[in-house]
Amino acid sequence: MQSFVYNALPSRVIFGSGTISRLKSEIEQAGCNRALLLSTPEQAETLAPIAASLGSLAAGTFTQAAMHTPTDVTERALNKVQECGADCTISFGGGSSTGLGKAIALRTDLTQIVVPTTYAGSEVTPIIGETKNGVKVTQRTLKVLPEVVIYDVDFTLSLPQRLTVTSGTNAIAHAVEALYAEDRNPVISMMAEQAIAAMGRALPAIVNDPTNLDARSEALYGAWLCGVCLGSVGMALHHKLCHVIGGAFDLPHADTHTVILPYAMAYNAKAAPDADAAVARALGGQDGTSALTALAARLGSPRSLKSLGMPESGIDRAADLAVQNPYWNPKPIERGAVRALIAAAWAGEAPKPLN
Ligand code: NAD
Repeated sequence: MQSFVYNALPSRVIFGSGTISRLKSEIEQAGCNRALLLSTPEQAETLAPIAASLGSLAAGTFTQAAMHTPTDVTERALNKVQECGADCTISFGGGSSTGLGKAIALRTDLTQIVVPTTYAGSEVTPIIGETKNGVKVTQRTLKVLPEVVIYDVDFTLSLPQRLTVTSGTNAIAHAVEALYAEDRNPVISMMAEQAIAAMGRALPAIVNDPTNLDARSEALYGAWLCGVCLGSVGMALHHKLCHVIGGAFDLPHADTHTVILPYAMAYNAKAAPDADAAVARALGGQDGTSALTALAARLGSPRSLKSLGMPESGIDRAADLAVQNPYWNPKPIERGAVRALIAAAWAGEAPKPLN
């Protein structure tokens, strides 16, 4: 008999097309009336009409959210919270905007409403990673779990092709690692397999036609499920590698996940045969590694750390960092094997399952 522990995470999710029209009533239903709207500088223009549509419910906007949630940006946003007397935040955008809303909630307990426009999944996790003086520290606390998520597929139509592919693969990585997590459970595993299958169908269709609303909708649905996987169980080697390599060499988050994923699957395939089989079933293929590699080829994904700007001389440093304070992993994390994985991912060589 299988034993497990399952923790459900509370969040209210509104999903569909045109759902941004519900924002006003969601703010009111949350008992709030002074919203601070958050975005990156690149999405400030899209945010402006949303803020205008809220009338007096919009207390202000702050459009300087940045990747990896730098604490100096959070300090400036907290000043804005004070200045405009905000009683909730609306995070509009990808993981960077959501991260800022979480950082504010961590310090103030303000209600968070998130309107995600990428597939990062942060909106449904109790996880926050913050960067101070170049060091990123991640923690899990229910204080940062957003109360309401409004998925409006219309906002994902503008997601550029490369970010669609890499953000979508970043989402798949959450689900793959959930399948072999130490604390995996049947509910999350079922969700993970469905999520990978949804992404596997949707991403090639979007690459073919970025305006395909059904495919965009399936990808956003898959991204939600992937986010729930990330928020519910522990992550392993793949996330550890992306965390240390992305941080050490300042590589783009979703691109790093995209390159590493087939290699992490190959590393763990023999030690986690059920997960390997589930990935193969979800994507169609003989095994998880070849299925993920074939998907990457079909999507035209970035394939090497070298192409992301990591120097070859960094391979040893990355291996050293990867074996420090390792996450739990189905296959023991051994420096020689991890170094070989990183070297292969750096060069973009075909990933090979380990024995
Ligand atoms: P991002 O939020 O940094 O967005 C990347 C760029 O794309 C930004 O310039 C943004 O403005 C733009 N963009 C976003 N959506 C767009 C759209 N629909 N159309 C046009 N442009 C759009 O990227 P991301 O990959 O979503 O998030 C990465 C960050 O999220 C990292 O800091 C990562 O650590 C964090 N993250 C956290 C969790 C968590 O659970 N805490 C989970 C996943 C990612």
